Amino acid sequence: MIKYNLTCKCGQVFESWFSSSHEFEKLTRKKLITCLYCNSTSVKKSIMSPNLSNKIKKIHKINKRVKDIKHKLIEFRNFIEKNCKDVGDRFPEEARSIHYDKKNSKGIYGKATPEETAELIEEGIEVSNIPWVDKFEN
Ligand SMILES: [Zn+2]
Repeated sequence: MIKYNLTCKCGQVFESWFSSSHEFEKLTRKKLITCLYCNSTSVKKSIMSPNLSNKIKKIHKINKRVKDIKHKLIEFRNFIEKNCKDVGDRFPEEARSIHYDKKNSKGIYGKATPEETAELIEEGIEVSNIPWVDKFEN
């Protein structure tokens, strides 16, 4: 079985199944294929333009790249979760206490607002902003 997208001169597009491309040709020659909408026999097999299929290929490529990046970010997140301490909303004060008390501490991670991050950087505290991807979202 083979599925074709058919286009009628009335502008409608519909799908139809044929046992083979040969059968399709035969039915067309005998004018046995009619439009579902207007019963016209001016029905043609619609072919996806190469231009459009290239675009679709490009979109697939981009989607794949986004997935790869996301995968790397998830790995990065796992690494941080394994090696650093989650201090949550107390991130700015914890970062300060490590910086000023020179505590030999394990790395920390948590949440900070853009303003808090800017303040920390201004004070000379090393912080990085990383995109925190949701592991469970697809
Ligand atoms: Zn039609």
